[in-house]
Amino acid sequence: MNTLAQGAAWVGGRVLPVGDAAIPVTDWGLTHSDITYDVVPVWNGGFFRLSDYIARFEASVASARMDIGMDTLAIKDALHSMVGATQLKNSYVAMVASRGRNPVPGSRDPRDCANHFYAWCVPYVHVITPEVASKGATVWIGKSVRRIPRDSVNPKVKNYHWGDFTSGLFEAKDQGYDTTMLLDHDGNVTEGPGFNVFAVFGNTLVTADLGVLHGITRQTVLDMATSKGMTLETRALPLDEFWNADEVFLSSSGGGVLPVARVDDRVFSNEAPGPVATDLRKTYFEWLERSDLRTEITYAQPHA
Ligand code: PLP
Repeated sequence: MNTLAQGAAWVGGRVLPVGDAAIPVTDWGLTHSDITYDVVPVWNGGFFRLSDYIARFEASVASARMDIGMDTLAIKDALHSMVGATQLKNSYVAMVASRGRNPVPGSRDPRDCANHFYAWCVPYVHVITPEVASKGATVWIGKSVRRIPRDSVNPKVKNYHWGDFTSGLFEAKDQGYDTTMLLDHDGNVTEGPGFNVFAVFGNTLVTADLGVLHGITRQTVLDMATSKGMTLETRALPLDEFWNADEVFLSSSGGGVLPVARVDDRVFSNEAPGPVATDLRKTYFEWLERSDLRTEITYAQPHA
């Protein structure tokens, strides 16, 4: 039996079943959400845009003033050996840098913590299921909560500070919506749990620039739209303007381009995926197969 069928973790150079991996209860990653991470998708046996994801991860690690003692090649090797040990051809692959433990109990000095790297992978995660995406997702704008201000927690450094999203998700689920997106304190559209947000106005795509993670899928959408001759605007998107969009969609490494049918009680594109989102979604899955954007994985021979 393949004990890694449900996923694997890489911890200190060892690959183990994902359910067996744990971090100590006094790790600052746990006690202070003092973690930065990234998630790269594996599709049909290859990483997509691996160097871009690792570059963003390394920038986040530097920004968080952590030293994980591993260079780019070592990170790549860890991810390859971990996913290669599973038979997962489509996978959600997380790489994580945690602040670690402080040797002095109760110390408040982050400089003394022993930073460390670990990774884990599970079967591919769709932040919106393909069934829902095919009909268009419903999105609830959080009312009791705003996105954490970017000068409080930098959203470009991918993090575990999900208190705002979790509140929004409870509201969304209570109201019967698929997911949530949040506004900033100036009333601009930001992002949601695991995705960026795009509005389509004719031949123009608008998405937030400040106050959001610069998603790799967001960048892929911008690249695809450029190749299709569309106009791009990365800037603040006030909610008043957003309501007048022709179409809305989300972008995520967990599913690519995700069409939206409704936001609160505002219906978009006849309550179905719009033509631009539908076309970009199809192109995204084609781009996942592009050899110039892929890194193939060598899988370990399964045991008989
Ligand atoms: N915004 C947030 C808050 C996220 O957590 C994510 C991904 O998890 C995204 C945006 C989308 O980023 P990417 O396209 O790199 O998956």
